[in-house]
Amino acid sequence: MLDLRNEILELKDEVISLRREIHMYPEVGFEEHRTSSLISSYLKNVGLEVEESIAETGVVGLLFGKEKGKTVMLRADMDALPISEANEVPYKSRNAGVMHACGHDGHTAMLLCAAKILSRHADLLGGNVKFVFQPSEERDPGGAIKLIEAGVLENPKVNFTFGLHLSNLFPVSSIALRKGIFMAQADRFSILIKGIGGHGAYPHLLVDPILVASNIIMALQSIVSRETSPSESVVVSIGELHSGSTFNAIPETAYIEGTVRTLNKLSARTVPESIERIANNIATAYRATIEFEYNTGYPPLLNNEKMTEFIMEVATGIHSLRIIEAPISMGGEDMSYYLEKVPGAFFWLGSSNKEKGIDKPLHSPYFDIDEDALLTGIEMHVNIALKIFGFDEDSF
Ligand SMILES: [Zn+2]
Ligand SMILES: [Zn+2]
Repeated sequence: MLDLRNEILELKDEVISLRREIHMYPEVGFEEHRTSSLISSYLKNVGLEVEESIAETGVVGLLFGKEKGKTVMLRADMDALPISEANEVPYKSRNAGVMHACGHDGHTAMLLCAAKILSRHADLLGGNVKFVFQPSEERDPGGAIKLIEAGVLENPKVNFTFGLHLSNLFPVSSIALRKGIFMAQADRFSILIKGIGGHGAYPHLLVDPILVASNIIMALQSIVSRETSPSESVVVSIGELHSGSTFNAIPETAYIEGTVRTLNKLSARTVPESIERIANNIATAYRATIEFEYNTGYPPLLNNEKMTEFIMEVATGIHSLRIIEAPISMGGEDMSYYLEKVPGAFFWLGSSNKEKGIDKPLHSPYFDIDEDALLTGIEMHVNIALKIFGFDEDSF
């Protein structure tokens, strides 16, 4: 098979400048108007059939292979986070309080360049390639479910799907993935504790919601240690606690908000029940009441076994690329919605480089990548598209 490596290497400056351009003008979920129009005009320029404004700001580019066959979907997300960038770099975010701290600028740039390369070589494709630029991965409900509702997996029907995510947990020139369960279900909950407020000197006449909140927070940690099998992984984290306005008054209410991460259906069902039971009974014990809200987030991400092997095979064919077996991540990803419906796989693309001082985690205001990773990402996308149609879907 023709090796497109040299052609990909020639796009180094282009992919870096695309990534930096997107990095400078980050936009949060469903507001990616500038990013989305950059994507559509790029795809049109390279000769793809383009569908715009799907699920608000989503863009889909379609490349028909020479042979009529199946369709592979390659997905990139394109939204940024409400974080102020702390890096002092020439391509620092120009949008105050918004930053590409999750690498989605790189995901978009890589997939655009892969579209450019593949559009020149449509004659080598044994099927069609759908390039999906998804809005709002960070904001629940994310863009994936909306794109599916808008029919992204149909016309032509998608037979395989793949996606990648930059990560500084792994070095540049590596990918990391695993078969089966890869990422967690990510839920969100809140507890509003209602007491009786008044002067801090007369607590016996009041019901103190801060004391109740403190007890609930401590007790919730027993869900993982005492109610979950030691062989299971569950996370219960409180990220917000708000109450009170001055030192000498007991407030009326206290508010707790947190996240739950689970890897299987049983825990996903029992943990919310446990939180409510513990919170309710502690509140009652202290004469307070609660209002409990629980929102189920993205489902766990599962990699198809055969498709994971396929990714490893593709990576093996790429010069000096290391393949690492990734640990399960308790993070969430809405790529999981596509993978529930279509065989495929998701993988980490290593982007850290200790020598260059690039090692900050995703969502850090100091997040940055070794841009050499972008070339590896293009090479993975291109080779996935070139090789996937040799696979027999019925054998999965
Ligand atoms: Zn993120
Ligand atoms: Zn992300």
